[in-house]
Parts: sequence; C-alpha cells; structure tokens
Amino acid sequence: MALIVQKYGGTSVGSVERIKNVARRVAKTRAAGHEVVVVVSAMSGETNRLVALAHDIQEYPDPREMDVVLSTGEQVTIGLLAMALKSIGVDAKAYTGWQVPVKTDSAHTKARIDHIEDTNMRADLDAGRVVIVAGFQGVDEHNDITTLGRGGSDTSAVALAAALKADECQIYTDVDGVYTTDPRVVPEARRLSTISFEEMLELASLGSKVLQIRSVEFAGKYKVRLRVLSSLQEEGEGTLITFEEDHHMMEEAVVAGIAFDKNQARVNVRGVPDKPGIAYQILGAVADANIEVDMIIQNVGAEGTTDFSFTVPRGDYHHTLNILHEVQKNIGATEVDGDDTVCKVSIVGMGMRSHVGIASTMFRTLAEEGINIQMISTSEIKVSVLIDEKYLELATRVLHKAFHLDQEPVKA
Ligand code: ADP
Ligand code: ASP
Ligand code: MG
Repeated sequence: MALIVQKYGGTSVGSVERIKNVARRVAKTRAAGHEVVVVVSAMSGETNRLVALAHDIQEYPDPREMDVVLSTGEQVTIGLLAMALKSIGVDAKAYTGWQVPVKTDSAHTKARIDHIEDTNMRADLDAGRVVIVAGFQGVDEHNDITTLGRGGSDTSAVALAAALKADECQIYTDVDGVYTTDPRVVPEARRLSTISFEEMLELASLGSKVLQIRSVEFAGKYKVRLRVLSSLQEEGEGTLITFEEDHHMMEEAVVAGIAFDKNQARVNVRGVPDKPGIAYQILGAVADANIEVDMIIQNVGAEGTTDFSFTVPRGDYHHTLNILHEVQKNIGATEVDGDDTVCKVSIVGMGMRSHVGIASTMFRTLAEEGINIQMISTSEIKVSVLIDEKYLELATRVLHKAFHLDQEPVKA
C-alpha cells in the first residue's frame, strides 16, 4: 500500500463529466489498495472569471478580499468531487485550505506555504476515506484566506505530498507529460520520459506553465517523487522529475527543452551620466515598488553617458515607466521609453555545462530567420533571449528543430 497525492488541473475538472472521470480514476487507485489524497483546481476558466469580476469593481482589488473571491473556485470542485466519489461508493471528505489547515504567510495572492498540519487528513485516511483538498489556497496567522499565485494548485499538491511523506505526487493535466516545449506551439514536441529537477526548475521559472515553479522548488527541497501525467488517457507513464540519485535513468540531450514567456516588457533609460551609484538609483527605485527585474544590460553611450535597459513583468510596465520618469529627473537621463510587445525564449539543458557552442547555434538559428535579439542572459544550464513577441512561435519552432528536439537523443 502506498500513499499517493494526485492533483487534477482545471481542464481535468472542467465539467461534471470530467469530475466524474476524476472520481473513477481516484476510485481505481483506491481499489488498487492505495491511500489517496486528491488536490483539485477550480474548473477551467473559473479563476479568470473571478479575477475579471474583481477588476470590474476595483481597478486594484483589495488583496485580502481578492483571496476571499479567488478561493471559491476550488471550494466548488472539492465538494463536487467528494459527491462524485460517494455516488460510486467511495468514502471521501472535502477540505478547504483553512480546514486542513495549510498555513501560509500573509502575502495575499502570492502567499507561501509555511507548514501543513496533517492530523485531520491522517484521521480520515486511517478511516479509509479519500481526502480531497482545495488547491491554490491556505490560511494565514490572522485566519485570513490566502492564495498561492496562479497555477498554485501544483504547489499545494507537492507541499501536501511532502507533509504526508507520500510515496508519489502525480500531477494530472491535459498533456501526458512534460514536453520538449509547449506542444500547443510546436506540434512536433516530444514527451520526455524523465527530466532532471534542475532542468524542470529552469523551464518552470522561464515560463513553461506545466508546473508552477514553487511546486518544483518544494519537490527539490523535500525530495518528493513528482510525475506529470494526463487525466484524459487511461495509460501512460508521463514524465518523472529525477534527482541526482536517479541519474542512470536520465535522457542525454544537451538541450532538454525550450520555454517561452510573454509576460515581459523592456524599459530603457537613455543618456544616463556614467558614474557610480546609477544602477542603484534606477533599480533601487523599481525594487522599492516590489517590481521584479529580470534581464539587465548597460551599454556605453555618447560622451560619458550610458544606456540602461531591463525587463519587468508586463503587468508592471506602466508603473515602471512612471517610476523611471521620476528617477529621470533626479539623475539627469535624457530619455525613458520601452516596449511591452517583447517575449523571452530560453533553451535549457544540463548538457550545456559540458558542451560549447550551444549559445552560438541559438543565435545563428535566430539570425537565419531574421529575428533580432534585443537582450541575452545566460546561466550554467540556460540561454535566454529577448525578442519581438511576433516571432515567439517562429523562434520556438526553429530552435526546436535546430537542437533536434523532435528526435530521441543519441545515448552517449
Ligand atoms: P492545469 O490546468 O492542469 O494545471 P496548465 O494549463 O496549467 O494545466 O498546464 C498544462 C499546459 O502547459 C499544457 O496544456 C501545455 O499547453 C502547457 N505547457 C507549456 N510548456 C509545456 C511543456 N514543456 N510540456 C508540456 N506542457 C507544456
Ligand atoms: N485555479 C488557480 C489558477 O487558475 C490555481 C490552479 O489552477 O493551479 O491559477
Ligand atoms: Mg497549472
């Protein structure tokens, strides 16, 4: 007997039929003799609908009340799934985040899980029940409802698996595993039977939404056995996230996958006097507004000046420009401008540590298509470029081909 945490995403619980399908799958795992904790998302589209309702009332919705609203989507699906299980003779109990409780900090709409109390869940498991937990939500020390950021049900599932020391955490979604890139953009994308934790972490942080980044971080910290699978197929091994000790089962490709991120905007501060402290004056003001800066470049400009460019999340673009117009007055920059129609495309692979020429293949491939690179950033296992968003699909497709990601890697 194993303890398995299964998470079903929005599409997988997107209709009553789909919820019944999830119930059948859970019942099957239960019938195989396993204990099951199920985490569900809201029905697909529901969280977006709730966000839109809030924005119809307040331009910047009150964060505490926003979480009261956002958490309702998952409350519906846990209740419906519990009913669906009971109706096929499987005892089950639904828990909201605060009922578990999943304790978080108070950063509304992007809270972090501090710890999870397992007493209630254990009692139900011991009594032979399936435990169903609302994903994406928790409760803070003031008893206020919190949510974990978009896509946060993945993190709920992995955190529950860690807290319960589950044998495996299975993320069921609308694709049958982690692919070399988003199969919606590149139909030739190939499912990976395994991907290393480090690569998955990079892909998630660079925009692949198949797993929320914090769920991957949790899996790494607590060594949770994590697998991505399809809820719509009966069979399939999905993709296993591997750790160092599983290296014998890993694929050998130099580049494992390609991620892209449209949530990007570039801002430029031009004609800045080139002297110590300038980067701090510019970026410090942006950081003070809690805006996350990603790629940064500084170029030598004319006559002792410098041009400074960086990227921010697209939703923070106008706020950032406003801040920079203020900073401009203090530092005497000649111009502030930007572009919010850019995107970031990244190649990721452990093999880059030991292979040279990967970045130049990337740059050549993009050049051959006439795609201009606006910014570059690299780490040991990734290269990212900022390009015009109209080239996102083309760039991803040609890079996928250039690195032969549509083919099984040749074993060394
Ligand atoms: P869920 O609602 O189940 O959480 P998501 O929409 O959040 O599902 O994530 C699954 C989607 O992630 C897929 O439908 C796919 O379009 C997208 N995706 C992006 N990159 C990848 C990738 N490398 N492998 C698989 N899916 C990916
Ligand atoms: N329902 C939430 C969202 O749409 C959480 C999730 O699906 O993981 O972001
Ligand atoms: Mg998701």
